[in-house]
Amino acid sequence: MRKLDIFGVPIDPVTMTEALEILSGFLRESKLHIVATPNAEIVMMAQKDREYMEILNNTDLNVPDGSGIVFASKVFKKPLKERVAGFDLMMEFIKNISSKNVKIYLLGAKPEIVEQARINLRKLYPAIKIVGTHDGYFTENEEEKIIDEINSSGAEVLFVALGAPKQEKWIYKNRGKLKVKIAMGVGGSFDVIAGKAKRAPYLYRKLGLEWLYRLIQEPWRYKRMMALPKFAFKVLFYRKKAKKQGG
Ligand code: UDP
Repeated sequence: MRKLDIFGVPIDPVTMTEALEILSGFLRESKLHIVATPNAEIVMMAQKDREYMEILNNTDLNVPDGSGIVFASKVFKKPLKERVAGFDLMMEFIKNISSKNVKIYLLGAKPEIVEQARINLRKLYPAIKIVGTHDGYFTENEEEKIIDEINSSGAEVLFVALGAPKQEKWIYKNRGKLKVKIAMGVGGSFDVIAGKAKRAPYLYRKLGLEWLYRLIQEPWRYKRMMALPKFAFKVLFYRKKAKKQGG
């Protein structure tokens, strides 16, 4: 399948169903696959961070997270079929594998949050195999021990919730050491599963206004969120330029 290029970040034009099939395929291969969920904020971060850009170009799957990406795909006349939110993909994938004996490790968030996420996931899917958890506030010195723990747990799927870009950088840096088959950055997902953070209600998501909900809930993030209008302008400006050049 041809990738869509959004300012240097490749996006796989997959639907949720297709993304889930790809993840199942990854489980059949015994090598590490890195999964990222780029949204407008991440694309903007990568413009200023060459290391992050390189990492996003070396993942195995980049699902189109966020309505900004879908908007850009339409402006660039390569419309994506649908938005695949990282949180939804994680939850659907967990649902799929929870009864299949696939071992999961949760890394990231505060200690009480990751523990509560484990408990809540078990309540939701009693057959789930969570073989270990570790919080996301560790020093570099502790990394070897954590990686050993992940590997000796036999985990096949590692969800990393350290926020972007920390989580992707951590996975990429340790890609030679991790023995899991899938490592996926999931941002603040454990906080949502633990019931600490709320996801935007359906209507906000449907209207592409998840960012607005987040801004209301976490107004201190406004600086970081300025990336969103900047992204929209960049998309429209790029289109105008391309049109002028006969593109
Ligand atoms: N986090 C962490 N270690 C850190 C920094 C952050 O485990 O050193 C966790 C934090 O507790 C939260 C998640 O990473 O659970 C970041 O969530 P955020 O919503 O900021 O990430 P985003 O979805 O914006 O990437």
